[in-house]
Amino acid sequence: MGIRVRSTLLDALEWVEYAFQPAGEAPPDDVAYGHQRHSAIVVDDEANVPPKSCESDGIIGLGARPVAVYTADCLPVLIADRQQRRVAAVHAGLKGTLAGVLDRAVARLCEAGSTPDALVVAIGPAIAPCCYELGEEMLTPIAQRLSGPLAHCWHREQPRNALAVRPQAIGTQHGIWFNLPQLATAILTEAGVPAANIENVGFCTYCMAEAGSSYRRNTHFNSGYQSRFSWIRRRGDNALF
Ligand SMILES: [Zn+2]
Repeated sequence: MGIRVRSTLLDALEWVEYAFQPAGEAPPDDVAYGHQRHSAIVVDDEANVPPKSCESDGIIGLGARPVAVYTADCLPVLIADRQQRRVAAVHAGLKGTLAGVLDRAVARLCEAGSTPDALVVAIGPAIAPCCYELGEEMLTPIAQRLSGPLAHCWHREQPRNALAVRPQAIGTQHGIWFNLPQLATAILTEAGVPAANIENVGFCTYCMAEAGSSYRRNTHFNSGYQSRFSWIRRRGDNALF
């Protein structure tokens, strides 16, 4: 049994059902998800029935069909639009985040009639700054993506994770320790989503999750990894699809 990770913000929405599933567990039968390519492409759920019908890294749920993303160390971002009762699942690694996939998901929900302050966002299990070393040169393109300061998104010293259940990543390149969930939060707030509406579950796939969760850990130890599915849907309304 894997560990069940919950979002306090999403749990408070009675019309939403969601899961950050453990690595290796199959998603719901009727789920829609795209063929993910670290792009900024966001589509409606019907474009990915059956799953992987088209390339996309964000998917909007219009009815009660669950929409999902599969990740290892990238961010699974689940969004609930309280205004229109739509939902979205976004695959946001560093590359896709810089390409603008989160902004695109917010924009698409708002084009359909929502407003950023109606959105509730949960950032699920992903590699955390305790284990995510990047070359310092990466800070330049990342900084160009934000109008505000980048300083709170990275650390010179590796943060210690008191909740780790296995050793944290060992630095290999004298780089910096990057906080991808914090970058996503900064981008979302610049897109108008209130900070109080954004939750980071703070669950590191490298040092906290069940075995086989981390792509990067597999790179270091050849320990194997499996995708984890994160999905969200509107409750009820089965007749809508
Ligand atoms: Zn970690």
